[in-house]
Amino acid sequence: MEIVESILDIPVQDPPEEEFSSADLIWTKFGTAEHHDDVALIPYARVDEFIIGECSNVECPTRFHIERGRKRSMGSLKEYKSDEYLEYRLYWCSFGPENYGEGGGVLPSRRYRLNTRNRAARPQSMRGCTCHFVVKRLYAHPTLALIIFNERRHINKSGFVCHGPLDKDAIGPGAKKIPYISSEIQQQTMSMIYLGIPEENVLEKHIEYVQRYCGSDATASTLASQYVRKLGMIIKRSTHELDLDDQASIRMWVERNKKSIFFYQDTSETDPFILGIQTEWQLQQMVRFGHRSLIAADSTFGIKRLKYPLCTLLVFDSRQHALPVAWVITRSVAKPDVAKWMKALLDRARSVDPGWKINGFVIDDAAMEIDPIRDAFCCPILFSIWRVRGSWLRNVVKKCSNIEVQREIFKRLGEIVYSIWGGLDTSVALEELILDFVDQSAFMEYFKSTWVPKIEMWLSTIKTFPLASQEASGAIEAYHVKLKTKLFDDSHLGALQRVDWKNTLHLHLGTERCKFRIPLLH
Ligand SMILES: [Zn+2]
Repeated sequence: MEIVESILDIPVQDPPEEEFSSADLIWTKFGTAEHHDDVALIPYARVDEFIIGECSNVECPTRFHIERGRKRSMGSLKEYKSDEYLEYRLYWCSFGPENYGEGGGVLPSRRYRLNTRNRAARPQSMRGCTCHFVVKRLYAHPTLALIIFNERRHINKSGFVCHGPLDKDAIGPGAKKIPYISSEIQQQTMSMIYLGIPEENVLEKHIEYVQRYCGSDATASTLASQYVRKLGMIIKRSTHELDLDDQASIRMWVERNKKSIFFYQDTSETDPFILGIQTEWQLQQMVRFGHRSLIAADSTFGIKRLKYPLCTLLVFDSRQHALPVAWVITRSVAKPDVAKWMKALLDRARSVDPGWKINGFVIDDAAMEIDPIRDAFCCPILFSIWRVRGSWLRNVVKKCSNIEVQREIFKRLGEIVYSIWGGLDTSVALEELILDFVDQSAFMEYFKSTWVPKIEMWLSTIKTFPLASQEASGAIEAYHVKLKTKLFDDSHLGALQRVDWKNTLHLHLGTERCKFRIPLLH
């Protein structure tokens, strides 16, 4: 076959199918007589569809993760070859590359386990798959992508098909004994553990997922429960306590948990204390579910009761559950401080995936500084009214005994919020509300002290930003409530000694102390 030496001589292929794979493309040998690769040229806009198609290989269904990524900016090169990259990504079959099986060398583990839409969490077992390819967005033609296939077959170093129905080891009596735990199930099970759901419930759900694949089978259930228990144990053994009262112990903790800290600023005369925590697993989830999607901040947890309030950053997983992907502990909401940790968080995601970006940032506090978000993430900001709504609803129910009155007050509050789009005078509406329900003194006291002084700010925020969807708001609220319930349960029972939470996030409530417990999975 002829060897092509210039990209310009390779035709651009744009298959009509919605998703396509290497089998749908014609491959050209590109390079020199001594060294050449199989390449194909496609529109850059269709790279995702190619990867989806490549994952749906009937003989070896898989996912591909980014093993390496590089990027350079436009204009940074004066001279360049026709195949020079603007963006470079090496995709590897997620059944590899570690564990080459008998006789094969073992590659060192990479620093991060990567995920995006098409890059699943690593499969349960590494099978040493060598299938991999490179996608280069061309420097000279950014609308084109050059795909370089280094190994198209899903084989290990010994040359055997190493996963899928054709894998010899996956056929036969042994294979039936092992329930196939897909990456999706793993992700969901880990999410539940991160959300602090008790182990019994995690197990129940996990078995339910597994049975969907394997049918109901006693062995499968036993193995599944062992798996969940093992995860629980790993988490238990690897949790660390952080006592925020003691500067020295914080420094030690930070030193010991470097891998899970994306930002740390010690208290000094000029700077306040800031601690940003993100485990590698959380980083993966942020990269995977945050990319071209939303990030939300549950920003005011413990603002009244904790010495150091906790801000949680959330992404929404495939079931639209809010997943905590980073925690920031600090009292400072000043612009320069927020800007520092946001930038650090973004840099961390970009170190894994240089093209990582989000489509929107959801805030839930009208007092939140907007500029740092805009500067770091360069994306639209959405506002979630769950806190306003939740606080009003809770207090109406708690402070007014008559159901009719409750309903009426809540309705009127809603009208005030919606009036901002109708051009009504909110201050008049507020005055009327206060007059009409003057006999509801308990509620009015709460409303006047908590909301009247800042209602202008809240309403103007609601008016300025698009509102987050009800699903997103519901998910943020559910996370917040779960966190709170856990803390109250714990604090009532003398939390310090209770390690049997099996939960991951553990804040010790109280005005002076804040205990933080996170899982550190490596
Ligand atoms: Zn493979």
